[in-house]
Amino acid sequence: MSELRRQQSGDLIWFASPQLSVYPRLKHAYFTRRGGVSSGIYESLNFRFTGTDSRDNLLQNYDIAAHLVGGDANHVIRTTQKHTDTILTVSQPVTAFTNAGDEGVDALITNVPGAVLTGFYADCQLVMLYDHRHRAAGIVHAGWRGIAKEIVRKTIEKMHDVYGCDPREMIAVVGPSICRSCFVTDDDVPEAMREAFGGMVQEYMYRQGDKWCVDLKNITYAMLLRADIPAINIDISNYCPCCGDKTLWWSHRRMGEDRGVHAGMICLTE
Ligand SMILES: [Zn+2]
Repeated sequence: MSELRRQQSGDLIWFASPQLSVYPRLKHAYFTRRGGVSSGIYESLNFRFTGTDSRDNLLQNYDIAAHLVGGDANHVIRTTQKHTDTILTVSQPVTAFTNAGDEGVDALITNVPGAVLTGFYADCQLVMLYDHRHRAAGIVHAGWRGIAKEIVRKTIEKMHDVYGCDPREMIAVVGPSICRSCFVTDDDVPEAMREAFGGMVQEYMYRQGDKWCVDLKNITYAMLLRADIPAINIDISNYCPCCGDKTLWWSHRRMGEDRGVHAGMICLTE
């Protein structure tokens, strides 16, 4: 289990998984807020259409980011995250900027080279999955609701069903996401975790006054192991957007809605 590596090119700063970086025909990045064209509360690499940032700025930011993983904005297919467990299989080349589905798609999988699978985070987990033997990649948005719906396990199973992937050969990466000290919750989160995972999650939740602190990174780690992904194939970032470097990260918990959102992208290259 390794920390992600900080990378920089000009103003653009992103983080990369040591394990995924081994493969020359796979590109991926967890972007920070640095290196885009947006200003004010969206400064600068913002990907969020639901705020007041201009479409022009946003499409330029998508271009800048997609370029790093081998495409441009016309190769982007983006999740429409609504805390669902809906997974979309991308089976055709992406030739125009595409929203995955209005009802909410929180995970994308593909074996099509050139399709830039794109998901978003500003505390939530963005999980990347890769199987080198079957040349298949996935990206999963998982906040606590998605984790409780087991969207990550379901995406691994779907990659098995569609592409024949074997979890024992898959790599899983959990990007920068909220840490256990920052994720202070009411009873609803621990209840949802216990319902989904049983007693195994008890050690990852502890009391703080009348609240709970919930360690979502370790819950996802335990779930990945239970899904048969080997421990040595898992990279988890310790970075937390909420208590981490404010010049790099937006955090929903710290900033509410007055913020941009980060993107992660993964792409099989030709
Ligand atoms: Zn934190």
